[in-house]
Amino acid sequence: MRPDILAPLFTDIATLRGVGPQFYKLLARLAGERVVDLLWHLPVSLVDRRAMPSLPEVAENQIVTARVQVGEYHAPERRRGRAPIRIPCLHEDGLIELVYFHMKAPQLQSMLPPGSTRIISGRLEKRGPHWQMVHPDYVVPPERESEVRRLEPVYPLTQGVSLRKWHNVLKQALTHIPTLPEWLEPTYVKQHQWPDWKTAMDAVHHPAQPQAILPEAPVRMRLAYDELLASQLALALTRDRVKKQAGQVIQGDGRLRQQLLKSLPFHLTKGQQTVLQEIETDMAMPEKMMRLLQGDVGSGKTVVALLSMLNAVECGRQAALMAPTEMLARQHAASLQRMLIQAGLQDTVPVVLLTGQDKGKERALKLTQLAEGQAGIAVGTHALFQDEVVFHDLALAVIDEQHRFGVKQRLRLIEKGRQADILLMTATPIPRTLALTFYGDMDISSLREKPAGRQPIDTRTASLERLDSIIARLKEVLASGQKAYWICPLVEESETSDLAAVEERFRSFCQIFGKEQLALAHGKMKGSERDAAMQRFRDGEARLLVATTVIEVGVDVPDATIIVIEHAERFGLAQLHQLRGRVGRGNQPSSCLLLYGGPLGETARARLRVMRETNDGFRIAEEDLKLRGSGEVLGTRQSGLPEFRVATLPAHGELLMAACDDVKLILHRDPELKTHRGQALRVLLYLFEYDRQIRYLGVG
Ligand code: ADP
Ligand code: MG
Repeated sequence: MRPDILAPLFTDIATLRGVGPQFYKLLARLAGERVVDLLWHLPVSLVDRRAMPSLPEVAENQIVTARVQVGEYHAPERRRGRAPIRIPCLHEDGLIELVYFHMKAPQLQSMLPPGSTRIISGRLEKRGPHWQMVHPDYVVPPERESEVRRLEPVYPLTQGVSLRKWHNVLKQALTHIPTLPEWLEPTYVKQHQWPDWKTAMDAVHHPAQPQAILPEAPVRMRLAYDELLASQLALALTRDRVKKQAGQVIQGDGRLRQQLLKSLPFHLTKGQQTVLQEIETDMAMPEKMMRLLQGDVGSGKTVVALLSMLNAVECGRQAALMAPTEMLARQHAASLQRMLIQAGLQDTVPVVLLTGQDKGKERALKLTQLAEGQAGIAVGTHALFQDEVVFHDLALAVIDEQHRFGVKQRLRLIEKGRQADILLMTATPIPRTLALTFYGDMDISSLREKPAGRQPIDTRTASLERLDSIIARLKEVLASGQKAYWICPLVEESETSDLAAVEERFRSFCQIFGKEQLALAHGKMKGSERDAAMQRFRDGEARLLVATTVIEVGVDVPDATIIVIEHAERFGLAQLHQLRGRVGRGNQPSSCLLLYGGPLGETARARLRVMRETNDGFRIAEEDLKLRGSGEVLGTRQSGLPEFRVATLPAHGELLMAACDDVKLILHRDPELKTHRGQALRVLLYLFEYDRQIRYLGVG
């Protein structure tokens, strides 16, 4: 249970003064329903009101604070038209006119009585020879000068939550901050000159210098470290817990794997061998495996997955491979089957493909095969893990491209698998910092090298203005027997307009290249039609595949050597890298042409440059992290993974590493968090609502 000391933080905001039902709803949507949520609603910038220059030194649009004497003015009871009221005010060395557009006369007169002295703060603009201030942010009598905050934090607010109302509730929330036991190593805190948690929490809302708002400010670093430490600790506890859960010893005799390896037209790379060994070792342990396999595009993950699954089948158990899209599931099933046929294993290892398309009798039959254990390998979309799907004896669940599933689905899968070992595969390498944050509960294997004989992909950029000459060149290249992809971009949010664009491109290409040479693939086609189109392209009947990003993940046609990406500036780096990974999969030299429509923004230009410079997915992932936020790199925005409240990557990447080390040490010395510091760390976990993980501590 959450300790009492945290209770003030987790009280409902309804208990605050001035929070009625209407305002409650607005606040809850803006920040959250508890006091702690208000406290975590941090300022995003500052208004600096410290300047009190003499008028000749004022810069246009500068924000200043000034002491003025209010002059005589006429505020009509009823204003005609939209003319503003202008109030002349005398400054030490000149005139400042205050301008009000919609303000009632009595209100104005009580705020600005002629002849009085007032402190005003706001933006100064030039009007002819004079300065004017339109709707000053502050107008107070001299005795209340302290109300004008010289460094005013700016909060993201919404309609109905004015700055004044926000300050009113925030002020109350700030009084709820308890003094908490220090959970950090005192020497570490001292070394960084960090304040204690309570001081930091208060100071983050009262920035004392302009730099205090930056992620590197000590106050923010302290809070970010707390947050990262809590998440690392929670992940480590989850992981220990999973490890302790009974898994199963899976150790096949190798006969199926040997037969498959003999039939492959290539040898496994060193990397593939190492990774396989890691997986096999995990599977042979009585604990449950939780492993993430990250491999750059084309590094050969599929065969690793198949060999791991055969290990399970050798023991008379089942394995499942789950893909994020139906197209990818079909393709996986097809390529597994191809490899099994080559090895003469198609009857020994039956593969069942289960997708949302399966209905009626056929589906029932497949379900029976899974439930009775005739199917050794199941391939499918998340349909595989619906309630009616029962496995006879699932020993290994391989999840491909898993971050597209979202964390919730991942957890459900892991539950469904019960004791099954879990292997997540991702083709988007994740920077180390991110891997730690989001997959800290897993062991990580990486496939960095590509199979021998692969040629680097020659990547170039060109303006779309050169479309005609590019098409002419493509025609020659196709005539010489090569195969190419032409990728049409996402036009807008709307799928219909995307569709229109790709169909339009296809039609115009039919005239230029001739229909026989072309194939079309997009997300709105029926699965079977798209399969047929892909098959024509694979067989070489069609030489140019016009497609949307549906081919982004996993499509494997080794003799396709050219990819043209239209409006490449609209894609993210990771996506471009995935798309480019469709070529360079065989031994032929390949090329990638990125067509851009100008003018290019800075980020787009940087992305295209990175693409030209490197083929290394791991480097691209690092660059991608620099160019955009971590949420986008992982695609978490869609999958709803909670973003951190203070910590940001890459600004706090080093803190994350430190937190990771810290956690190792903590759990080594005090695995049950029983010491004095351990108790404080429990409070930290509760503070960040890792209640579930604390419960793991009690369970042996
Ligand atoms: P990805 O990691 O992108 O999923 P795949 O598993 O689809 O990569 O493999 C890409 C291509 O490389 C496939 O055509 C596969 O048959 C081939 N391949 C896999 N391993 C090797 C290897 N060791 N040597 C040569 N080719 C390989
Ligand atoms: Mg793959």
